[in-house]
Amino acid sequence: GHPAPVTVTLPTGGLPYQDPSLPVADRVNDLMSRMTLDDEIGQMTQAERSALNPQSDLATYRLGSVLSGGGSAPSPNTAQSWADMYDSFQRTALSTPLGIPMIYGVDAVHGHNNVYGATIFPHNIGLGATRDADLVQRIGRATAEEVSGTGIDWDFAPCLCVARDDRWGRTYESFGEVPSIPSAMTSIITGLQGTTLGGPASVLATAKHYVGDGGTTGGVNEGNTQLSEADLRAIHLPPFKAAVDRGVGAVMISYSSWNGVKMHGNHYLITDVLKGELGFSGFVVSDWAGIDQIDGQSGFSAADVDAAVNAGIDMVMVPTDYKGFINILRAEVNNGHIARSRIDDANRRILTKKFQLGLFEHPYTDRSYTATVGSADHRALARQAVRESQVLLKNAGGVLPLAKSAKVFVAGKSANDIGNQSGGWTITWQGGSGNTTPGTTVLQGIRNAVAGSGSVTYDRNGSGIDGSYTAAVAVIGETPYAEGQGDRPGGLGLDQEDLATLTRLRASGVPVVVVLVSGRPLDIAAQLPNWNALIAAWLPGTEGNGVADVLFGDYAPTGKLPMTWPRSTSQEPINDGDGQTPLFPLGYGLTYPGGGTTTPPTTTTTTPPPSSGCTADYTITGTWQGGFQAEVKVTNRGSTPMGAWAVSWTWPSGQAVTNVWNGMYSQSGTAVTVRNASWNGTVAPGASVTFGLTGTGSAEIPIVTCS
Ligand code: BGC
Repeated sequence: GHPAPVTVTLPTGGLPYQDPSLPVADRVNDLMSRMTLDDEIGQMTQAERSALNPQSDLATYRLGSVLSGGGSAPSPNTAQSWADMYDSFQRTALSTPLGIPMIYGVDAVHGHNNVYGATIFPHNIGLGATRDADLVQRIGRATAEEVSGTGIDWDFAPCLCVARDDRWGRTYESFGEVPSIPSAMTSIITGLQGTTLGGPASVLATAKHYVGDGGTTGGVNEGNTQLSEADLRAIHLPPFKAAVDRGVGAVMISYSSWNGVKMHGNHYLITDVLKGELGFSGFVVSDWAGIDQIDGQSGFSAADVDAAVNAGIDMVMVPTDYKGFINILRAEVNNGHIARSRIDDANRRILTKKFQLGLFEHPYTDRSYTATVGSADHRALARQAVRESQVLLKNAGGVLPLAKSAKVFVAGKSANDIGNQSGGWTITWQGGSGNTTPGTTVLQGIRNAVAGSGSVTYDRNGSGIDGSYTAAVAVIGETPYAEGQGDRPGGLGLDQEDLATLTRLRASGVPVVVVLVSGRPLDIAAQLPNWNALIAAWLPGTEGNGVADVLFGDYAPTGKLPMTWPRSTSQEPINDGDGQTPLFPLGYGLTYPGGGTTTPPTTTTTTPPPSSGCTADYTITGTWQGGFQAEVKVTNRGSTPMGAWAVSWTWPSGQAVTNVWNGMYSQSGTAVTVRNASWNGTVAPGASVTFGLTGTGSAEIPIVTCS
């Protein structure tokens, strides 16, 4: 059972700061007039729950905040014991003379992901693919309810990184590679906080990591973002402006550097730009031991503390040696290196949020939300998010959607693995493969979809398949990782297990449908011709039914790529508008006949392309109604380099091209009947070049002529 209800006994009673009818600013002023320097330094100090030893240190040192870093969870890891743990910490915090409540932060970055049994939503990259800001706001609300049900007040989310290099291990925490997508998805902040702080299930949100975390050279985690100020402002700053405009309560600083200077010590960007120019009135928190890195030495020094606090950091995620930090901060104030006014400003910012959240009036867990953790409603919302996040990248011959009467062979290491489909930041910091938390795997979703009419055979490695199946569904991709552990400087290829599985499926002659479970675009161009269909499923979370909904046509795909998909890792970094030719461009995404967002066709023409006087051949993939994709692969079968040849695309007037790859056309409006382009590069013997486009309506196949 849980502890008996606790009555908060106000220390002296009737003080102005304890009066909820007074304006927050007055309450803050009154409270601060009663606080000592040690009280104020404590408010600026955040400790990890497991480092708080003994727990009474929370009161002794007047600590303002506690966090669960990574997956740091109570035992047993249930919503109930989280709430009990929270209330116990809060009881300790309130036992001081002024009774200032602590604020407890967690990384609920795709649902309340530290808690066993919580609803796990798709990671941000999948939410970016939905382009559905309203859906994402509802996800924020559901997450806030689950978080509130465990007592927690503060979420270190959303990550507003603009991921510019897919080799970065945090790419999946990004909503998209262009600032417009994360900016739109700041709707999650409104979901988390509610329309006003302190309303029902209101959780303080954190825009992180300020600023430029996704722009590091080589995609190195915590690396250096080498950019002009104009580019930094154009690419990485806009989502933070959007977050501030939505009233985000906290901002977390990035581990990364900007032009060689650690962000944790950057006064200009934190104080002048964020707090000044953007008008951010909440508080700034450092990242986990982030201040330690400022001087390049391990551990924090007086120089680190000075630089961080003077740069404008208001609360320091120490997170372990809180006593050492407090001693240094006190000394640096006493010796004048840090002005008392800076300490007051930090306290005013932190305490304002605590008052606005209603922590002084409602310091303990609202247990009426505890049952929302993993509730059927939230899982239904997550399933909808999974549907909308899937991006259909290839559908040759219209193999999808599968009929429910199909005889399906399912394979792949992620077909029956909740851990893999949830990715990092799930139960533990790194996440992990296997049955880590309750949910529905993709395999179970497929079984549910065909129940009573079709059949499903499953073998992880693809052994035992024969030609009798309607289709083989291979669920493959990446296994979980978080932060730098996910950096892949060596390339983004598929692993040997996946390649072996695909080879077995391919050998059967059965159409192969690939469901790619990954935190980013992978290096798949060489395998793609062997696959009949490809769905980018990203890291969908616990609701695998949503993937099956797309496979079987209960939901016609609407997802659009939130990132440019490279032809090979050697193109990294690759981003929209940089002049490189991707495998699939930003915004690319197909749908089914009559489904999705495209316009129904008037005609469909598939004419085999004539070859005239050249040693080229062609593979045509995916031309269908309701939106077309026409792709021509020209391979030089001769022994001399091919060059100087032309492609003509022909399609009915009044139809729009929405994406093109390899730059083989020039567009002027939609009423175009023929578009021509020539390609002047050479193609070496045995090499290929692929051209293609997508649009609404129908496409006629291009004519390729070689001179
Ligand atoms: C991450 C942050 C996270 C923090 C607390 C850090 O390692 O960079 O995103 O909020 O840990 O868990």
